[in-house]
Amino acid sequence: MITLTPYKIPYYNQKQKTEALSFSKDLSIKQPTPTTLSTFDDSFNPSWIKDENIHKAVNNLNYLKFDKKDIKTIEKLGVILPFSSGAEALKFIKSSNIRIKFDTFESNDIHARYDFDNNCIKINEIYKNTKNPAEILAISEAILHEAGHAKDLDGDSSIQEELDCLALNALSHRAFKKQFPDVKFDEDSLIVKDGVCVYADLFFDEDSTKSNLINRLKNKYGTLPTGDFIHPPSNLAFKIKS
Ligand SMILES: [Zn+2]
Repeated sequence: MITLTPYKIPYYNQKQKTEALSFSKDLSIKQPTPTTLSTFDDSFNPSWIKDENIHKAVNNLNYLKFDKKDIKTIEKLGVILPFSSGAEALKFIKSSNIRIKFDTFESNDIHARYDFDNNCIKINEIYKNTKNPAEILAISEAILHEAGHAKDLDGDSSIQEELDCLALNALSHRAFKKQFPDVKFDEDSLIVKDGVCVYADLFFDEDSTKSNLINRLKNKYGTLPTGDFIHPPSNLAFKIKS
C-alpha cells in the first residue's frame, strides 16, 4: 500500500503537493461495504463482461472478507486457502486475464468449472437470468472457487485442491450471510443448496471427525489423487481417499 503524507511535502513545491493530495485522495476513497445487491461496488467493468449477473457476482468479491476465527477453524483442518479475501481473488482474476461467462453444461448438478485451455471460468447458464440474490451470491462463490483452481496454473485437480477451494465456499457463504442479512438462502436452488450452503454446514459442523464432509467428498472426489506438489495432502484428504 502506498501511503502519502502531503503535510511533509515542502510548501514551495506546490505542484508536487497538489498531485500528492489528489493521488492520496483517490487511494483513500472507500465506499462502505454494500449490504444489498443493488448498492454493490461495480468498479470492475471490463468490456468482455456481457452479463449483468456476472458483473454483479464478480464485483461482490471486492468487499468479501472472511471472519478471522472462521479462517483459523478452517486452517486447523489442514486447508491452505488460495485467497485470504474476495478482493485478493478479484485482483488475481484481473491480473491473470481470466474471463468469466455462462455456458451450457451437461447437467444441472454442475454449477461451474474452470476451463484451463481457455483461461475461463464458466457458470451454468441456467442461472444466466436469475433475479434471486441468493443465486447471484452463489455465483460469486462459484467464481471464487474456480479462481482457486486457476491459481495453480494447471488443469488438474486433487482431493486436497478441492478441499482448499471448497473451504473458500464455506468461508464466503458465512461472510455473505452476515453482509447481506436480508437475503434468504433457503430457497429451492441447486447452486445455493448444493453448491454453497452445504459446505458452510459441513466444514463448520460440531463433529470434530468431520465424517459428513469426508463422506460427501469421498463420493464426489474420491477418484482424484489425494494431493499434488502444490497441494500437499492433509490428514483429512487421506481420510477422504481411504
Ligand atoms: Zn472444484
